[in-house]
Amino acid sequence: ISSKLPQVGTTIFTIMSKMATDFNAINLAQGFPDFAIDPEIIRLVTKHMQAGNNQYAPMQGVPALRNAIAQKIENTYGRKYNPDTEITVTAGATQAIYTAITALVKDEDEVIVFTPAYDCYVPPILLNHGKPVYVQMKGPNYKVNWEEVRKLVTRKTKLIIINTPHNPSGTIWSDSDMRELEKLAVDSDALVLSDEVYEHIVFDDATHYSAARYNELAKRSLIVASFGKTFHATGWKMGYIYGPENLMTEFRKVHQYLVFSVNTPIQYALADYLENPTRYQNLAAIYQQKRDLFLEAIAPSRFSAIPKAQGTYFQLLSYTAISKKKEVQFAELVTKKHGVASIPVSVFYHQPLDQQVLRFCFAKSDDTLLKAAELLNKI
Ligand code: PMP
Ligand code: GLN
Repeated sequence: ISSKLPQVGTTIFTIMSKMATDFNAINLAQGFPDFAIDPEIIRLVTKHMQAGNNQYAPMQGVPALRNAIAQKIENTYGRKYNPDTEITVTAGATQAIYTAITALVKDEDEVIVFTPAYDCYVPPILLNHGKPVYVQMKGPNYKVNWEEVRKLVTRKTKLIIINTPHNPSGTIWSDSDMRELEKLAVDSDALVLSDEVYEHIVFDDATHYSAARYNELAKRSLIVASFGKTFHATGWKMGYIYGPENLMTEFRKVHQYLVFSVNTPIQYALADYLENPTRYQNLAAIYQQKRDLFLEAIAPSRFSAIPKAQGTYFQLLSYTAISKKKEVQFAELVTKKHGVASIPVSVFYHQPLDQQVLRFCFAKSDDTLLKAAELLNKI
């Protein structure tokens, strides 16, 4: 048949995870923790399953969870969102992003996408006949050139998609980046989709500047979060989205036909689990220890950590001192010959750009990280 997405193949995460399995390599490619989740949350899920909470949840999410999320947002960013009209529980961030783009983007609408970009933004733009407009952020700092962005934002710009802390670069946007974005969105009357799945993973006492902290941005943003990232349970595919009622109304029109509602017992369990805010507030410390352990362990290697991760659980490593190969070929070689799988960053760009950097996930047990470092140190 004639494909609706001729330019799309299998995602790099599927490819590299399969290569890791086939070649028995340590998988620092696809971003997921290899350590156990808190037994307490498993107990809570079991409790709610046994209590009979096993049928359809309300379309927008169970009230207890939406209330707990509203409290979490207020504790973290100081803004109140109405749990009835402004928060929806989703099957992970991916479904929230797909649904939001489908709800907002019409034929010919332009959508600003910052690259390197996580891979689930562009396909839904194309399926909705929108037009991605790319802004390139380059290593080693992956800073946004706001002057360039101002030139690309026009009356046709419907949506600006942002992601901070940023996958794959591990950088975070500053207060001044967010103020530039706010001004631009207001001046051009564009909406914002803010992918903040790593909101609780920022290092060295940095602040995560959520779109929720800015009055004018909050009025025009849908903000996406993921319990998969926050509670180390990526396989649960649980997340949420929040934003002003006018945008959430449109979001729910699509959400109700995409999934209708999401996993009921896990929603009840998350509502209980969120009662203790340290459970998400301790995340930065857990991952900072892992980042530092990994960086220290690879210090003798010929890789260089540029830039040092400021957030997320990804560390970029430059290999210019080792090889002139392109990223895809080098990632393949390191997986097959040296036993460590990673992700080539070039696949997240629209225009070909090969900066000889690979992305390594450090959401792993200390033992896994030390074993991987030992292999990387021999290259
Ligand atoms: N956005 C970014 C930037 C991500 O890294 C991920 C997961 N790797 C997602 C969205 C998707 O999150 P979820 O697994 O909750 O769908
Ligand atoms: N978000 C994860 C990553 O960046 C992968 C998710 C997926 O496999 N689609 O590695």
